[in-house]
Amino acid sequence: METTLCIIKPDAVKNGFEDKINEKIISSGLKIIRSKKTLLTEEIASDFYKEHAHKPFFNELVEFIISGEVVVQILEGQDAIKSYRSLMGSTNPVEAEEGTLRKLFAESLSKNAVHGSDSPVSAAREIDIMKKIF
Ligand code: GDP
Repeated sequence: METTLCIIKPDAVKNGFEDKINEKIISSGLKIIRSKKTLLTEEIASDFYKEHAHKPFFNELVEFIISGEVVVQILEGQDAIKSYRSLMGSTNPVEAEEGTLRKLFAESLSKNAVHGSDSPVSAAREIDIMKKIF
């Protein structure tokens, strides 16, 4: 069994999609083993997104993720990292495949509804950061 970190981002929480997203996660075969609705601090958000620190959209990324409540979750399942990434769909909702979370629930590239770890190393790092908030 593998674990991965999922965040339901502020746009999706504001738009009331939390339950619909979780239904999709559960029907895909993944188990939600931890879940917490919270406001992230700027310190946690900057650390979480530090691999993007050199990018022009870094400030926007951090400002957005702390702009409203998020739901931070740990998902568990067979091949959970890849499986949840494929359920999320492409980063830009315009390119996301039919039926994916981003196709169904995202507003735009920056307000794209959900986050999911992209590798075992990222999953371990992200889960470790979020342990502080559970
Ligand atoms: P992900 O793993 O699919 O979430 O994508 P990335 O790790 O590449 O990027 C992290 C997040 O940054 C994405 O989910 C987007 O919300 C945001 N993002 C990526 N590219 C851009 C961009 O060009 N502009 C802005 N404003 N946000 C971006």
